[in-house]
Amino acid sequence: MSRARVIVVLGAIVAAIALVPISAHARAVEPPKRVMIVVIDQFLPEYVDRFDMENVRAVMDDGVNFRRALLGHMAAETVITHNVLTSGLFPKHMGWSDEVFRDVDDVLGEGAGAYHVTSSLGCSQFEAMLAAEGYPKLDDYLGGQFISVGQKPTAVCPAGHPADPEDIIVHIGSRNSDCDGDGTNNWRSPGGVNIPDYISANCERFYVDAASSTTYGTGTTSPAWMYPLDGNRFAVGTDEDHLGGDVWTADAAIELMKNEPSWKGMMISFGSVDKMAHMWGTDDDGPSGEGDDVYEQAHLPYTARKADEQVGRVLAQLDAQGLRDETLVVLTTDHGGQTAERYHGLDGANRGNFNWYYGADGDEDYREPQPALAPLIATGNVGFNYQDGHIATWANDNSPEALERTAAAMRRLPDVIASYVRDGDRYRRVGPLGRMNLREFIWWLRHAKGLIDTMAAPYGPDVVGLLRDDVSYGVEGDHGGHQAKIQRIPMAFSWPGLKPQKRGERIRAVDVLPTVLELMDIDPMAGHPLDGRAYRLPRHR
Ligand SMILES: [Zn+2]
Ligand SMILES: [Zn+2]
Repeated sequence: MSRARVIVVLGAIVAAIALVPISAHARAVEPPKRVMIVVIDQFLPEYVDRFDMENVRAVMDDGVNFRRALLGHMAAETVITHNVLTSGLFPKHMGWSDEVFRDVDDVLGEGAGAYHVTSSLGCSQFEAMLAAEGYPKLDDYLGGQFISVGQKPTAVCPAGHPADPEDIIVHIGSRNSDCDGDGTNNWRSPGGVNIPDYISANCERFYVDAASSTTYGTGTTSPAWMYPLDGNRFAVGTDEDHLGGDVWTADAAIELMKNEPSWKGMMISFGSVDKMAHMWGTDDDGPSGEGDDVYEQAHLPYTARKADEQVGRVLAQLDAQGLRDETLVVLTTDHGGQTAERYHGLDGANRGNFNWYYGADGDEDYREPQPALAPLIATGNVGFNYQDGHIATWANDNSPEALERTAAAMRRLPDVIASYVRDGDRYRRVGPLGRMNLREFIWWLRHAKGLIDTMAAPYGPDVVGLLRDDVSYGVEGDHGGHQAKIQRIPMAFSWPGLKPQKRGERIRAVDVLPTVLELMDIDPMAGHPLDGRAYRLPRHR
């Protein structure tokens, strides 16, 4: 090629590159007007193939599928991630960063420093925690009605914005009704904020039988009995007029879509896969026949397929209302999970909360610890403790000497690989590393420090122990920690205006909000920096 030819060719390439951003701005396709985030709780990427989840697979294949996505924060828990996804912030900037919340600023009115177990908080308390931090949520950016629906308050309250008068939050609420007339209030009514009449109608479709005696065998079988089913909150059940589990969530979502056609944002959180994996482990292959064995409802294979069906139903509703072209669908999870090959809780009926928590708050007392925790508690410095796939200690005495001593005790607990003390907005490792295999070590080296620092806040734990793979102090299947199986998540964006693409970047849950805003042409708000970054998704032009 002559020198002149080379220059002409190079010139053409430069011109072509220069043209790309210009034509991208002059896009013919209108950006999506709505966003629907679909979360399947504790959804491992491998489930798509293992359980042949064809509706989930279709979303991934039709859209932009990030195959190496990472959760990207700790604690890797429901109550944390549902707010990370809808705020674009790390837990250390959110107002709470683990299952246990230390109310340093007396936001909830039980005194400065009071402890709260987040799984027993309601939407109004989450709103108080949000208001105290004062950052915008997804619903503020979208500027219209936001709907958050799912079985659990810890999923739907943090996802929504309870104070917004036009927003709707719906979950399965408390046992306060006797819809079958057996003289016991063992039916759960819909809970939430601004619950519409067509959801709350007394003893109608959205009430479910939640008799704690209805356990589908999980109440009497190890290891499920630590955290057994309690009626039809996570199980589908057999009462066609009051189906529970993920069918309840899809039915509620579809009813809301029909009745609130101008919604701008929606979070739909399917909670049953998480429950089955907690009870039996993430590898559960229990009763999976296509028959009518009622016990199959209490296992992962049935539940994963049922969740997939619900994803299909919700997307079909978008189609039926002609909304698919203007709706960006984000399909992801709030964490992965792992099975306890080395287990350090106590395997007994209803031990779940006592394995997870050590401490007492205003309405609960969980001071019956598993023996494995004894050396940590013996330091006398445990104000509250929480342990699942990681161990978190809120200390009584925060002096450097006391924290060092507590971290040293933490480091000696079974299968702890590294022990950390909080130092402002980061954690500092204390003492030697514990035993790991090479794979665990490489993962720890690459990810642990970045992950643990995302939860460093005054309301978060003062001392943290990271655990080896496949270790749990909570129940048989668990999450919370830094491990690969907990941190690897599915993440797909689907909208007809996107070019289908497989991507290899490590997008994180915190990047979802900025990525959604970028695609929707919505500017971030001045004075409210985001922790996530926007990924540019490839549009058709
Ligand atoms: Zn979860
Ligand atoms: Zn869970």
